[in-house]
Amino acid sequence: MSRLGLTKKDIDSAVINGTCEWTEDDDGIWTTSCHTMHTFFDGGPTENFYKYCPYCGKFITVQKYKEALVSEVAEEVVRGIAEPMMNKVRKETAKIYAQFLAEGRRKR
Ligand SMILES: [Zn+2]
Repeated sequence: MSRLGLTKKDIDSAVINGTCEWTEDDDGIWTTSCHTMHTFFDGGPTENFYKYCPYCGKFITVQKYKEALVSEVAEEVVRGIAEPMMNKVRKETAKIYAQFLAEGRRKR
């Protein structure tokens, strides 16, 4: 579990569905990347435990914290998703290559 309380489900959702980016203006009004405005009584999405956008359902990224979040998500993604995916890709590629070689041999 990461500092932001990201679960595998959150990461999968962010990777598969993309994220909704929330930006706060000087008046404390938040604009979402799905083109909706939102206000909080106090604080922002993070302080109010908003993980998913109530308008589009995507995982929320806060512009202010984006860099930290992105690096944290990226780390988790690399560890949890990219590495197994790359292993799978390597295996698949090896299989396809082996098939290709086998077919080439047959044709000759
Ligand atoms: Zn949204």
